[in-house]
Amino acid sequence: MSDIQERYAGAVMNTFGPPQLALVRGRGAHVWDADGKEYVDLLGGIAVNALGHAHPALVEAVTTQLSTLGHVSNFFATEPQVALAERLVALLGWGEEARVFFSNSGTEANEAALKLTRRTGRTRLVAAQGSFHGRTMGALALTSKAAYREPFEPLPGDVTFVPYDDVAALEAAVDDTVAAIVLEPVQGEAGVVVPGADYLAAAQRIAHDHGALLWLDEVQTGIARTGAWFAHQLLDGVQPDVVTLAKGLGGGIPIGATVARGAAATLLQPGNHGTTFGGNPVAAAAALAVLDTIEAEGLLEAVVARGDQLAALLAEQAGVVEVTGAGLMRGAELDGPYATQAVAAGREAGFILNATGPTRLRFVPPLVITADDLDALSAALPAVLDHARSAAQHDQMRPTP
Ligand SMILES: *Cc1c(COP(=O)(O)O)cnc(C)c1O
Repeated sequence: MSDIQERYAGAVMNTFGPPQLALVRGRGAHVWDADGKEYVDLLGGIAVNALGHAHPALVEAVTTQLSTLGHVSNFFATEPQVALAERLVALLGWGEEARVFFSNSGTEANEAALKLTRRTGRTRLVAAQGSFHGRTMGALALTSKAAYREPFEPLPGDVTFVPYDDVAALEAAVDDTVAAIVLEPVQGEAGVVVPGADYLAAAQRIAHDHGALLWLDEVQTGIARTGAWFAHQLLDGVQPDVVTLAKGLGGGIPIGATVARGAAATLLQPGNHGTTFGGNPVAAAAALAVLDTIEAEGLLEAVVARGDQLAALLAEQAGVVEVTGAGLMRGAELDGPYATQAVAAGREAGFILNATGPTRLRFVPPLVITADDLDALSAALPAVLDHARSAAQHDQMRPTP
């Protein structure tokens, strides 16, 4: 264990369990630990490092903005903030009736959206089983996982959870008292669960039949992750009323955004919501650099190509029974409960992997990951999965103390 890991345990609250490694630097889709060991990063800071590590365009944008004007509060306007709001609205294909609220994280983007829905005059929300929307009390109220919720009940709000990808269950749950239907276009924390092609369109129809909003949480799926700017754009005719963003948006600099259109864009009025840091010019400049670089480097096309390569190499593994997702957001279902052991074996072999459950691996690498990086993963995975399978069997045979 590195010195950093030991000091961590003595100084940092134990909310995450012990860190797997202490990392000291990164470049592209590679990171190095405190012992100088190199890893290919298939997690990308949990779908955050869109441009990988230490991308010159991001370093330049942040450095220039910080040395010009770093923070001013929301009593004042700055060019990067306004430019980013205009840019996000344009990428969504929305017009003059859309507006953006900036914050610092995914949970805050959702918190703002939740407050926005309260201004409809309705309080009921319909969310999905398996959902993850964040850890603040409002976002947690929309998150289905009992282990996250129960220690903090009572949670705010009046939330009905329905099975994901079940149109009939949505029909049955939504009536004229519902303020919004809240859905991830692809459930990320659940292990990259993709609904049927008609699900979001049906959700939109059901919402609008009852005067409710369709709010899509694109915190993980947004910003080119699935091969489109936003995952819902892969579907015909899906036009949410509210979209929440964070993770990849700042490429590693914290920023969240709540984008709303039509009547939803004006629900939050002066005094209704606020933030000290949200939309600060450094974070906004970082996000603009991410968006510019995705365009300049043709990353939307690269995500599709690398995503197909990743899906194919996963599908040909002996232990993988199903591959889900789109672009560079992929889930791999294993033929047994050895995903945790696969993460450990991957680390040994020089790969940062991620398990969302005992049988499920998730891959959300930097959008700049190369074909060579994925070839290296392809070569290493058979041994990693073999090793993990026998480690799991060994763990099972160990007598419980
Ligand atoms: C990660 C995530 C969040 C929470 O974002 P934080 O920045 O961790 O607060 C919310 N929604 C989805 C879909 C996410 O994947």
